Amino acid sequence: MFFEESPDRQSLSEFSCDVAILGAGFAGLMCARKLTRLGYRVAVIEPLTEVLGGASSRNEGWLHAGTYHALSIGDRDQARQVAERCRYGWEQIRRDFPEALEPEGHAAIAIVSEDRVAESARRWDSAGVGYRPASARDLKVVVGDVAIGPNERPFLVDDLGLDVRVLAARLGHEIRAAGGVILTGHRPTALGESSVQLTGGPTRTLHFRTLLLATGYATSKVCGELGLEPPAIRLWRSHLIALPRLTGPSVFSVAGGHAAMINHGPWSIAGLNEDAEIVPEPTFEPNPEVARRLVEAVVARFPRADISAAHVTACVKVDVIEAPNAARSLNIRVGELAQDVLYVLPGKMTEAPFTADVVAREIVGRLGMPGVCDRPIDQRSMSVSAGERREVFV
Ligand SMILES: Cc1cc2nc3c(=O)[nH]c(=O)nc-3n(C[C@H](O)[C@H](O)[C@H](O)COP(=O)(O)OP(=O)(O)OC[C@H]3O[C@@H](n4cnc5c(N)ncnc54)[C@H](O)[C@@H]3O)c2cc1C
Repeated sequence: MFFEESPDRQSLSEFSCDVAILGAGFAGLMCARKLTRLGYRVAVIEPLTEVLGGASSRNEGWLHAGTYHALSIGDRDQARQVAERCRYGWEQIRRDFPEALEPEGHAAIAIVSEDRVAESARRWDSAGVGYRPASARDLKVVVGDVAIGPNERPFLVDDLGLDVRVLAARLGHEIRAAGGVILTGHRPTALGESSVQLTGGPTRTLHFRTLLLATGYATSKVCGELGLEPPAIRLWRSHLIALPRLTGPSVFSVAGGHAAMINHGPWSIAGLNEDAEIVPEPTFEPNPEVARRLVEAVVARFPRADISAAHVTACVKVDVIEAPNAARSLNIRVGELAQDVLYVLPGKMTEAPFTADVVAREIVGRLGMPGVCDRPIDQRSMSVSAGERREVFV
């Protein structure tokens, strides 16, 4: 710990770390956990008074097992890659944070239209996604609660509901236990050479060897505030509805315009497949037209849903513009904004463990291993000259 819990140190106006991370969403926290475990001194800076105030607490809490994205992405290679990254995150989170998960006895059910069953099985097989046709016995718990059309086939799959608060609390605990700092209520104001000025409490200067922006939908704004050229990102508004729990298992269709519902204890949270629309600014305000379609999709799939108790919310997803008029990319990004400044966009929450490993490898390459002798082959000369930007992982 460096000063967060120590009153003496609270008054420090200058402090230093190896990696300063802006943003305490899943990208920032997962990177901080991995880097502290490698022995780096890490400080996470978050302007809100609590962690997880951004997109990371405004999602379905769907720990993807690759089932959905293996099918929802047109390009087969991309679909397999996203599904594999989800599987990687699914395995790690399931292994390391079991208390954050819905009990696995509540298996999830994926609904696929009959004409896509053969292709779905091929795609799931190629991405290592676990599935088996759901039997009448598997479905007994949901008959009547879930409308499954005559041309639709249900499959039992590995997807899980995740209580994002429990995961964040565990990440925070691990980061602090490994000597990291999470400084909430502090905002970066000015970027110096290997340092950033923070306001919130007493003005402080944080010295770093590498600065990592994990600021999600605020990335363009933060770049503007710190005088950095932002990556070309777009914002996509997407909607959720929360209802008292409807079924035992989570149930989702993979077809566009259908509902996908993930369960958490007493709650069901449903989204509308492929509802994302570009917006100019981050917003939590729902679009009434999309909210209406979401409610209709939920009622079509869950005829007993009491939508009078429902609450629709919105949040924004982020992608990097790859070409004018390109479809929304589901790819993750780790890139360079300036010589000692990186940014990370994790794709989905489920992909954060994968993305954090990409970041960790980049930091090892840049900073070496703390307290460990370099091998003769290690050269940490940067491949980038000042002003030139490099994508680490696209
Ligand atoms: C509607 C919706 C549903 C989704 N459903 C799922 C799902 O079920 N499963 C899944 O795997 N993924 C899902 N996602 C994607 C997932 O939520 C995001 O990919 C993930 O939360 C992004 O994490 P992040 O840390 O990059 O961003 P965020 O969680 O937004 O964190 C960014 C942080 O940066 C902070 N920040 C802002 N300005 C500054 C500043 N100046 N300095 C420092 N910090 C700053 C913010 O306060 C915030 O805490 C969904 C996304 C949306 C929008």
